[in-house]
Amino acid sequence: MEKLWQKVWAALEQAQIEALWVTTPENVRYLSGFTAPEDARVLLLRGEATLFTDTRYTVQAEQESTLPSFVWRQGDEWKAELKTRLEGVRVGFEASSLTVEKLEALQKIGGIVWTSSLGLIEGLRAIKSNEEVAQIRAACALTDQVLAEVVPMLVPGARELDIALELEFRMRRAGADSAAFDIIVASGLRSSMPHGRASAKLLEMGDLVTIDLGAKLGGYHSDMTRAYPVGEVSAELTKLYRTVKQAKRLALEAARPGMGNRALDAVARDYLKSERFETEFAHSLGHGVGLAIHEAPRLSFRSAENEALEVGNVVTLEPGLYLPGVGGVRLEDLVVITEGGCEVLTRSAEVDL
Ligand code: ZN
Ligand code: ZN
Repeated sequence: MEKLWQKVWAALEQAQIEALWVTTPENVRYLSGFTAPEDARVLLLRGEATLFTDTRYTVQAEQESTLPSFVWRQGDEWKAELKTRLEGVRVGFEASSLTVEKLEALQKIGGIVWTSSLGLIEGLRAIKSNEEVAQIRAACALTDQVLAEVVPMLVPGARELDIALELEFRMRRAGADSAAFDIIVASGLRSSMPHGRASAKLLEMGDLVTIDLGAKLGGYHSDMTRAYPVGEVSAELTKLYRTVKQAKRLALEAARPGMGNRALDAVARDYLKSERFETEFAHSLGHGVGLAIHEAPRLSFRSAENEALEVGNVVTLEPGLYLPGVGGVRLEDLVVITEGGCEVLTRSAEVDL
């Protein structure tokens, strides 16, 4: 924790701001441990961090927050407090989450110099502590367990929606805060939609079923995709499956500290191109996962810079191929970057086709 705070203050100094008004819920939770971050803010000011929330959370803030809290009782009390603390100070606001309406309300306080800031805390969150990795590992283990229970239900006549519900119900019962996102169950031709949420379609013989799921546990997420055949699948789908599996294997082998985020995307993309899939890999290779389901670093051909991966990054590797009128396959693992390469956190077995 001590180390984290050194980095926090160094980040502010580098951004040439004396204070930061933290409004992004994941950042608020990261800095304070408070589990209702949508209704809270953190003020960082010259070596001092304070949680701001209201009287609905008096008890909860006391129990959960590692920071001293300012609990306001009436409408504008917090604004008066900000004016007292921040008169004449140059304060960053988080441009990615603060609405224009809320910024205008801050500006009306008067006497404070508000300046746009981007990605300061997100940059710190990209490197996970051992405790954070342990939490993500637990979310992955829960997901693995639940998926293993539900895979036998992938039979002809089963409805995609029921499979998704079964997964979600079991995740909650196993202790998850919630599903990490709307579970994707996409079978047959629907699997050519990368984000085909579960529908009323029934599974049929010959379908390949893409299941993309994750659990949120203690605030941290897991994210994994597997594909399962219902009976025998066509030679074309088999070829797609094997090609995507190989692309993921190559990405897993290449993932290590110092590897560029764009270069890692290219490892999978270039292989798929060499197999004559020029455009069918229609999204980026992966994304960071933590308190948010999508966070830094992004593994993308669209990244402006080829930034090096670091020990403690937790990222997905999720190549996919989508052929309209045929079907699609995506396989996704969540890994943590380690000194020697990467460790795979998602352990569900992949079928051999
Ligand atoms: Zn996913
Ligand atoms: Zn993902």
